[in-house]
Parts: sequence; structure tokens; C-alpha cells
Amino acid sequence: MSDTRHTRVLIIGSGPAGYTAAVYASRAMLEPVLVQGIEPGGQLTTTTEVENWPGDTEVQGPDLMVRMEAHAKAMGCEIIGDIITSLDVAGRPFTAKGDSGTTYTADAVILATGARAKWLGLPSEEAFKGFGVSACATCDGFFYRGQEIVVIGGGNTAVEEALFLTNFASKVTLVHRRDELRAEKILQNRLLKHPKIETLWHHVLEEVVGSDNPKGVEGVRVKHVETGEISEIPCKGVFIAIGHAPANELVKDTLEMHNGGYVKVEAGSTRTSVPGVFAAGDLTDHIYRQAVTSAGMGCMAALDAEKFLAEQEDELVTEAGAYAAPLDDPTEAPSETAE
Ligand code: FAD
Ligand code: NAP
Repeated sequence: MSDTRHTRVLIIGSGPAGYTAAVYASRAMLEPVLVQGIEPGGQLTTTTEVENWPGDTEVQGPDLMVRMEAHAKAMGCEIIGDIITSLDVAGRPFTAKGDSGTTYTADAVILATGARAKWLGLPSEEAFKGFGVSACATCDGFFYRGQEIVVIGGGNTAVEEALFLTNFASKVTLVHRRDELRAEKILQNRLLKHPKIETLWHHVLEEVVGSDNPKGVEGVRVKHVETGEISEIPCKGVFIAIGHAPANELVKDTLEMHNGGYVKVEAGSTRTSVPGVFAAGDLTDHIYRQAVTSAGMGCMAALDAEKFLAEQEDELVTEAGAYAAPLDDPTEAPSETAE
């Protein structure tokens, strides 16, 4: 059954940005509602150890996100398991439709929809998705016990995935298009000295090869970027870790974007091109894309929303005052300078 509910602040997304916004907006007595989306807890639920969250030398990503959710709830935020399928920011109140059939109306919206794994777009990658091709080692690594695995990419995600997969695999080959990794030095060192990991520089994935019956991956064909030479690597699993793209589907036609689809915000704030709509975290950040920076922006978004709503209320009071004056004294026009 469909229903409509109104909130002062609607937070869309349950990663570090969304939950931090929820803590701050709740403590500002804005009674926010947070819609979690398809991945409650966000990207950190797809990893294991997080070693750069201040205050925790090491914490499991999913545990950290459970704690953030509990924190937001304890502060008074209402957390809803729903997915927003459309968002209308043309007029106020803003209107969001939920997959559940619920319509959410809000005086201010905080967008914290984060980012999603990118794919190469190869037909063979698509054909074997879920049958040996994955973008989440923590989700699928367990299926490849004692098998050979290929990881594509050279950033933090690729290196972490390769390291994690050594827990299951007999061998992991990291295929990267350059001969230099983008990942942090500490991760690079761990990767390069790991006995189960081999690196293949200057190569890109050309094709995933496998069988149809039973459906599964048998190997990959990779191409040398300079010579064009093709070689084959036998493997049962292929993990694509070539970065993440902002999850901007709800607003890509209504808000200003930049840097290839990141929501544009005013410098030093979380204000988007539509007043009353704020954006935080990976959705708006093409540079840092960290849990701690996303959380920081979530805080900023809640404070920006609070200020916006207070200004709206001030305007309403002023307008009400302007209309009230003629009633008090019908002979006197309302004046801005009147005390
Ligand atoms: P996300 O975490 O991406 O969360 C987005 C949220 O939006 C999700 O809850 C999703 O369900 C929701 N959503 C999306 N669309 C909708 C919709 N239509 N309706 C409702 N909700 C929606 N960073 C670190 O600092 N340290 C690390 O060790 C680290 N490790 C990582 C390991 C991996 C494998 C990955 C992929 C990333 C890692 N990162 C790490 C990066 C970090 O996870 C991100 O920077 C951070 O999660 C971004 O937070 P966010 O809140 O912006 O969005
Ligand atoms: P990323 O940093 O953007 O790295 C993507 C990697 O994939 C790069 O090495 C890139 O190669 C390669 N690549 C991109 N497109 C490709 C293509 N079409 N074919 C072949 N290779 C391709 O992405 P990420 O590793 O997913 O990280 C995303 C963000 O999350 C980053 O800000 C990262 O710091 C953060 N993160 C942090 C941690 C941590 O703190 N421990 C862990 C995971 C993620 P080039 O190098 O040649 O461009």
C-alpha cells in the first residue's frame, strides 16, 4: 500500500556520509529520516580490515557500519530500509519515491548515495558476471578456495582485493595497465612481497573465457598495451577493481555535475545547484573518496541543512510579520525599517 510521509530532512544513503549526517541532524532536533538503499552501510560493508578510521587501529568495515547505524538510531534518526527510485527537486517540498511505494516529502534533502564499482564493459565480462566475474572479493572470495584468481586494476581496491583473496586462492595474478600502482605505499609493499601474488604490468583484460555447461570461468585473455601481444592466464575467478563511479542516477538531470558525473557543490560547503539539496561523500568527491572524508562531509551537510531550514523559517516569520502589520494598523503600510 502506498503512503506519503513528510520529514524536515531526508537523508538518502547509509554509508559514512549518510550516517554522520543523521547523527548531526538528529542532534539538531531536525528529526531526520534516512533511507538506506540497496547496500545498507555502503561500500565499507564490502571490505574487511579498515586501518585508517581514526580511533581504531583496525576495524572490520561491516562492524564499523553497524556501529554507525546504531549511533544514528540512538541519536533519534529514523532509519528505513527502502530504495529511492526517483527524486523531484523542482519545487518544495522535495518529493522522493520509494521502491516500497512510500512517497517521502522533505524540506531539505541530503544526498549521500556514494559510488558503485565500475565495470570494463566487455561482453564476456557481462556474460560471466556472477559465474566467476565479480567486483567484490569479500562477497565472493570464499567460492575460490584453492583456485587461481585474476584481479584487474592498480588502485587501493585492487591491491586490497588481491591481498584478501590470498586467504582462499592458490595464486592471485594482479593485472595492471601501467607498471606503477596507484594504491597506498603500505599496501603496495604488502602486495609486492606476498608469495602468492604475481603482478603482470602493462596488460589489460581482453576477454574472459569460460564454459557454458556448467557455466564458469576458465581463464582470461590479456593484451600487452604496447606490443598488442595476447596471452592467456588460467583462472576460475576474475575480480574487476578498476574504480568506482558516483551513484548520481537520481539527480544527474536535475543538479549540476562536474568531473564526469560527481555532484557539484559550492566550494567549502555541501550546497548543490538547488537550494535545500545538499550532497556529501563519494557522490560529490572525485579526489579523496575515503570513509573519513565522507563522514566529514556528512557532518557539513547536516549543518548546512540546519542553517538552510532556519533561514527558511526566518523568512516565513518575516513574511507573516509583513502580512500581520496591516491588520494591526490598516492605515500604515508594512515597512522593512519599522521596529
Ligand atoms: P557509500 O559508502 O558508497 O554509501 C552509499 C549509500 O547510498 C549506500 O548505503 C547505498 O545503499 C545508498 N544508496 C545509493 N543509491 C540509493 C538510492 N537510490 N536510494 C537510497 N539509498 C541509496 N575508505 C577508507 O577510508 N578506508 C578504507 O579502508 C576503505 N576501504 C575500502 C574498500 C573497498 C573495497 C571499497 C569499495 C572502498 C573502500 N574505501 C575505504 C572507500 C570508502 O568505502 C568510501 O569512501 C565511503 O564508503 C564513501 O561513503 P559514502 O557515505 O559517500 O557512500
Ligand atoms: P581508483 O583509485 O580510481 O583506481 C582504479 C584503478 O583501476 C587504477 O589503477 C586505474 O589505472 C585502473 N583502471 C581504471 N580504469 C581501467 C580500465 N578501463 N582498464 C584497466 N584498468 C583501469 O579506484 P579504487 O581503487 O576503487 O579506489 C576508489 C577510492 O576508494 C580511492 O579514493 C581509494 O583511495 C578509496 N579506497 C581506499 C582504501 C583504503 O584507504 N585502504 C581502500 C579501497 C579504496 P591507472 O592507475 O592507470 O589510472
